[in-house]
Formats: sequence, C-alpha cells, structure tokens
Amino acid sequence: MRKALVAGNWKMYMTRIQAIELLKGLRQELGGKTYQTQVVLAPPFTALETVAREIQGSGWGLAAQNGFWEKEGAFTGEISFPMLAELGCSMVILGHSERRHFFGEKDEWVRRKLEAALASGLTPILCVGETLEQRDQAQTLEVVRRQLQEALGGLQEEEAKEFVVAYEPVWAIGTGRTATPSQAQEVHAMIRQWLGERFSLARADATRILYGGSVKPENIADLMACPDIDGALVGGASLKADSFAAIVRLGKD
Ligand code: PEP
Repeated sequence: MRKALVAGNWKMYMTRIQAIELLKGLRQELGGKTYQTQVVLAPPFTALETVAREIQGSGWGLAAQNGFWEKEGAFTGEISFPMLAELGCSMVILGHSERRHFFGEKDEWVRRKLEAALASGLTPILCVGETLEQRDQAQTLEVVRRQLQEALGGLQEEEAKEFVVAYEPVWAIGTGRTATPSQAQEVHAMIRQWLGERFSLARADATRILYGGSVKPENIADLMACPDIDGALVGGASLKADSFAAIVRLGKD
C-alpha cells in the first residue's frame, strides 16, 4: 500500500520570516491530528535551514528544489546534494519544467543530478510532463516515456533505494488549468507500466507517482480517486496554509 505524499514546492517565494508565518498557519491547520498523508516542504535554498528547524519533531519532510551533481568544487552558484542532506533535506525535486524551460536543463543533466542525489541518500522527485503543443499533437505518452528513459533508463534497481515520479503537464503548471482525472490517470498508468518493465513489478507497485499542475483543495479528491495517483506536487496552493492543509487532508474534510 503506497502512502499518499503531498509536497509543497514554494518555488522562489518565502523569505525566512514569511516561511515561519506559513508554518505557524500550517501547524494551526494540521497540528494535533494524524493524517495518512506524508507532508514534504520544498522551500527556496535560503529558507531550508529555518524550515528544518521549525518542522523538527513534526514528521514533515524537507526537500530542495534543485541541486548539482558534483560533491564540491569550483561551480559558482551551485549547491551539492551532500550539502542539502547536511541541512536536513531527505528529498529533492529534479527536472521541474521551470528548470527545463527557463534554465535550459537537459535530460542528461537531470539524469546526472538524479544519480548523484541517490548516491547522497536523497530521494529524488523526478518531474516529467509534456507541453501543450506536444499534447495537441498526441505526443504526451511518447514524451513522458522518453523523459523517464533518459532519467532512469541507466539506473540499476539496487542503486535506487527510492524515487518518486511527478507527472506535471507543463500546460497545467501555474495556469489554473488542471488535467482531468482521466487525462492524469492515463499518463500515471503508463508511468507505472514503464517502471514495471524497466525495473520490476514490485518497484512499480511501491513507487509513488504524484500529479502536479494547479492542484487545489477543490480537485485533489477527484485526482486521488484515480488508482495510479499517489499524491500531489503543489506549487501555488502550497503558499497558503489553508489551501495546502486542505490538500494534505486530500479534500476529505
Ligand atoms: C509546481 O510548481 O510543481 C506546480 C505544480 O505548480 P502549480 O501547483 O502552481 O501549478
């Protein structure tokens, strides 16, 4: 049985003071009760240490939004996975479409980052997804399959303790347009099938596949009703305590 995972990608929002305020709100919304959902927060690098301190003892996890594959060296502006692990990160988002499109991140870089993150003991959240043009040309499954192959194709099963896949159609990120549950389920089912063929049925069955793209309290329950959707990667709605908390509760109350 896969445990639902809801990860909040704060993108380039939240100073440390704002982060503390948001966490206070989240504790008020979610504190005192146990939820079935695993909660992970991905603040910007500058707030990682603050958030790590604030969430101590809460059971919530910490993720970075990016990282670089070398352990150390003359790579101005970059941050390595061991550095992120030292700050308390257990997960890292890799291959987010904003990195692919605004910063020219190639599949090959995503693969190198993913392998280095795993080697440092972090759990990668690998983002894949098609553009609107690719969807309109009926290339969605082919594009996502290629992204999976490029990032995970060279990996031995034993090298990957755990990874998470996030299907994030580019046209749904930050646009208010969500994939319908059936559009998302179709891609999630293909991803799980691919994992089964590439690794093993056990691995396919155990791997969490998140949906991301304008997830809100109003659509999380319908998305979670799909058999292959195991949680959400949430951008905009993770910046407000009430909406993120409602998503963590999976829209159930
Ligand atoms: C994201 O940043 O991964 C994302 C899905 O953003 P939003 O929820 O705002 O569409």
